[in-house]
Amino acid sequence: MTITPLMPVYPRCGFRPVRGEGAWLISEDGSRALDFASGIAVNLLGHGHPHLTQAIQEQAATLMHVSNLYGSPQGEIFAQRLVDTTFADTVFFTNSGAEAVECAIKAARAYHQSQGSDRFEIITFKNAFHGRTMATISASNQEKMHHGFSPLLNGFRYVDFDDLEGAKAAINENTAAFLVEPIQGEGGVRPASDAFMKGLRELADEHGILLVLDEVQCGVARTGALYAHELYGITPDIMASAKGIGGGFPFGACLATEEAARGMVVGTHGSTYGGNPLAMAAGNAVWDVVANDEFLEHVRTIGEKLRAAIEQFIGNYPDLFTGVRGKGLMLGITMTRETRSFVAHLRDNHGLLTVAAGDNTLRVLPPLNIDEGHIATFIEKLSAGAADYEAPES
Ligand SMILES: *Cc1c(COP(=O)(O)O)cnc(C)c1O
Repeated sequence: MTITPLMPVYPRCGFRPVRGEGAWLISEDGSRALDFASGIAVNLLGHGHPHLTQAIQEQAATLMHVSNLYGSPQGEIFAQRLVDTTFADTVFFTNSGAEAVECAIKAARAYHQSQGSDRFEIITFKNAFHGRTMATISASNQEKMHHGFSPLLNGFRYVDFDDLEGAKAAINENTAAFLVEPIQGEGGVRPASDAFMKGLRELADEHGILLVLDEVQCGVARTGALYAHELYGITPDIMASAKGIGGGFPFGACLATEEAARGMVVGTHGSTYGGNPLAMAAGNAVWDVVANDEFLEHVRTIGEKLRAAIEQFIGNYPDLFTGVRGKGLMLGITMTRETRSFVAHLRDNHGLLTVAAGDNTLRVLPPLNIDEGHIATFIEKLSAGAADYEAPES
């Protein structure tokens, strides 16, 4: 037998973390790495955060899981906090980002179909990433995710990202919703323009279409706003959240207005684990820390400092780097070449973890509670990495 016990769907590297301390990961062999990847925008309080850890430990010992057939005091508290701090009136809890997007897609279709309309088509945007389930790969135009899994789910139409005219032209009598990441993550940390986000909101209102946001990566304080759409001065009808929401505990949420959720009535949707007491304890602990102006202000300030430091540094290597984009602590350094081998070089030779993304972009996603010392260490490692990098022949 040559297949590995872990199904070989990931190109796993030799760094094998067994412990985390704040913004640092410690490997099986004792080596330490500065974690500016945060499990891909998940560990927003770093590793081993005392408040989050304690909340999970206490809840695990008290009550870990009960069925959604019973009342949920823990879920009601956290859902109420989400409702109080966002556009939403109601929340469905899931176990992952893809499931939160699935719920959003179902809610958007059900909104129309529960009113006797058969609108079903969802307009999505090129190079989007919405997850790995059948519906969420169908929602993306990226062929590398489709290969081998046909037939895809019907009912998605792909338009260029940030192209408002294209979005407008794609609307027809079957259009149910727009589904968009305000800042594309996997696609290369590409923030939508103000005009695009505001324009989608207007088109949606004009045509009776729902605006569905995928804030799985850019949400939960990552950009210095609790959710990224706040930076654009708009609100969605439905929104998927996950990644940072549990600070490392796996769960997600689909948030909606009362109007947009009108199709989601008893018996239409469900999840065995979704929103169980342990997940809710993690969510509540994360909200205790992040959902206040002081914390969000910290993310904005430290994000500006990190960005300024990167901007200043990359000027030394114009043959490697072309710019920085993103918002808050969701930053992308655009490179003149393929990023994967540089990410591997930083990791293997300089103890620095970052993430490759599309469009030759190096993603920088540190924990949100970093300080200036972490920025200095990051820049040291990045500069040492740029200085001794030997790019592979392309
Ligand atoms: C990661 C991600 C998802 C999928 O989340 P999973 O928890 O891996 O299912 C969906 N949308 C966006 C924007 C993401 O970054």
